[in-house]
Order: sequence, then C-alpha cells, then structure tokens
Amino acid sequence: MLNRPLSLLLVIGLGLLLLWSQRDRAASEVTRTALIMGTLVEIKAVGSDENKLEDAINNAFDVMRRVEAEFSPQVPNSAIARLNQTAETSEIPSSVRDLVELGEQVRLESNGAFSMALGGVKELWAIETENPQVPTREQLEAVLPPLDSPALLLDGLIARRSSTLVRLDLGGIAKGYAVDRALEQLRDRGLRSASVNAGGDIGVLGGHAERPWRIGIQHPRKQGELLATLEARDQAIVTSGDYERYFERDGRRYHHIFDPRSGQPASGCQSVSVVAPSAALADALATAVFVLGPEAGMRLLEQRSEAEGLIVAANGEAIVSSGLKERLQWR
Ligand code: ADP
Ligand code: MG
Repeated sequence: MLNRPLSLLLVIGLGLLLLWSQRDRAASEVTRTALIMGTLVEIKAVGSDENKLEDAINNAFDVMRRVEAEFSPQVPNSAIARLNQTAETSEIPSSVRDLVELGEQVRLESNGAFSMALGGVKELWAIETENPQVPTREQLEAVLPPLDSPALLLDGLIARRSSTLVRLDLGGIAKGYAVDRALEQLRDRGLRSASVNAGGDIGVLGGHAERPWRIGIQHPRKQGELLATLEARDQAIVTSGDYERYFERDGRRYHHIFDPRSGQPASGCQSVSVVAPSAALADALATAVFVLGPEAGMRLLEQRSEAEGLIVAANGEAIVSSGLKERLQWR
C-alpha cells in the first residue's frame, strides 16, 4: 500500500496529465493556403480532430473558388460576363443580386465613390496584367460610366446594365464576400474557431482558442511590417491599399482603386482598413473610403454604426474612427 500523501500526489499528477492531454487535443490547429482570386488565401482552423479541420478547410477553399467563378467578369459564362455582353436583360443568381444590392447601398452612401461599373476603366489600365498602361484622359472619358446611376437595374432576379458604358466589375467587394462564404462553410461544418485571410481581407470565426484572434494591419509603406494589431471575435477586417496592385512609371505610382469621376487612381490615401460584421461590407467600405479620402471617408465610417476604420492618409498620417481608438495596438 502507498502512504496517503503519496497516493494523493499520484491522483493529482494523473489528473493534471489528463487535463494536459485534453488541452492538447482541443488545441489542434491546421493552416492551409491556396491561390484563389489572384490572391494567396490562408485558412486556419482550430479544433480537436485534424482530419475534420482539413476537410472543412478544403471545402471552404472550394466555396471560394465557386464565388470566383460566379463573380469574375473573365469567366466566360459567369453571370457577370453575360450581363457585360448584352444590353438586354438576363437572369442572375440570388447571390449576385444580394451582393450587387449591398454594393449599391455603399455606392449611395459614398456619393458614387464606390462603383461596380468600372470594368472598362480597369481594362484600360491593365494593372493586373503583364502590360500595364497609362491611358490618356480622352481614352478614360470614353469609357467612364454615368456617375449617378446604379450599375444594374434589377427587377427581382432579372437584371440589365443601366448603360452600355457600365462594365460590371465586383472586384471591390467580391473577395470580402468570398471570405464570408468560406467562414459560413467552416461554421456549418461545426467549427467554432477559424480565420480566413485573403490577402488582407480577413474574417474570423469565434476566438482563437480561449482568446480573441489577434489581427495584424499591414504597414502601407513598410513591406512585411505591421502598422497595428487588434483583437477580434466574429468580425472582419479588410484593408484596401495602394501598395497591393500597382505599377510605377516616370516616378509615379499607379494603383488599382479608381476615382469614378476621373478614372484615375484615387490619391487621398495610402491604405484604409475597415472593421465590420461582414467582410463583404468591410471590403466595399474600405474601397469607398479609399476613394473618398481621409475626411469624407472618415465621415462615412462614423455614419455606419457597425463599421470602424483606420485610414492612412496620402501624407502618412493615421486617422482612427472613434470606436476603434481603444482597440488598436500600435507597432
Ligand atoms: P483588393 O481587391 O486588392 O483587396 P479592393 O477591395 O480595394 O482591393 O478592390 C480593388 C478592386 O476594386 C479593383 O481591382 C477593381 O476591380 C475594383 N475597383 C476599383 N475602383 C473601384 C471603385 N471606385 N469602386 C468599386 N470598386 C472599384
Ligand atoms: Mg474593397
């Protein structure tokens, strides 16, 4: 027989060992990356069963690939490509209708700064190709869509472009939407802790084990360095920056977020990060605020009670919305 103190110690030791091993099982984390929508997408999933996590992540990537096919103007038979090819009406999936409606809300709130009609402008600049160009003012004017109308006219699921100058391009909102759909898929698979990062469009499900997720905001002028971090649960943080997709010519930087009035790259900001309940909303708002510039952009963020943001102005000054000030940790 063991003496009492010794057996007590043994029981405590076994208990601790059990706790430790359970903790270890609950803390499995799987991270995978895939190239989707021209971006390296990273998904992290936390749970107890690695196979299940891996399966869920693969499904989430598939969901994102489907979103890419559905929303890309380049995919020949996508709803967007079909609309762009005809002046007639055509039927669209409800997912496209819903996202277009969200984009239209942001267009109205931003006085037209957010526009899903700039496909023609984007094509002229060809920024995401091997051969980017600086178009002339005349070339741009010839493709600029009307400023004060929605991109699409909708009657239920029947849609048509409001003008043949509208070339639908949902690039300012679709990646955020894809992040939302991926998170939804992970949640439907029973996960309670995951993060999806599509090149700075970030959404998190739950917290990171016992704590919130800690999310880094990229410094717009120091590659690979963070400007700030913040903690979040069940939220999205999306950044639009002039450093993501751009080319330089004659000492000038030309990037991919256009002012719908001129078709030129918007010049008021280096980057805009928006925190919101959904990544689609955060994505659209980040693009809109970027075009509006620091002052009008911050006004837009302060009007939207569920959104907060950090704007880095063209001169490098950082401006933070009232609800985010306490949450940011500067680097
Ligand atoms: P990223 O796609 O790199 O995350 P954004 O969300 O800021 O960056 O989106 C930029 C994309 O949005 C452009 O590549 C283009 O497809 C589209 N876009 C450009 N200008 C505008 C605008 N004023 N409003 C809405 N979308 C825009
Ligand atoms: Mg955007």
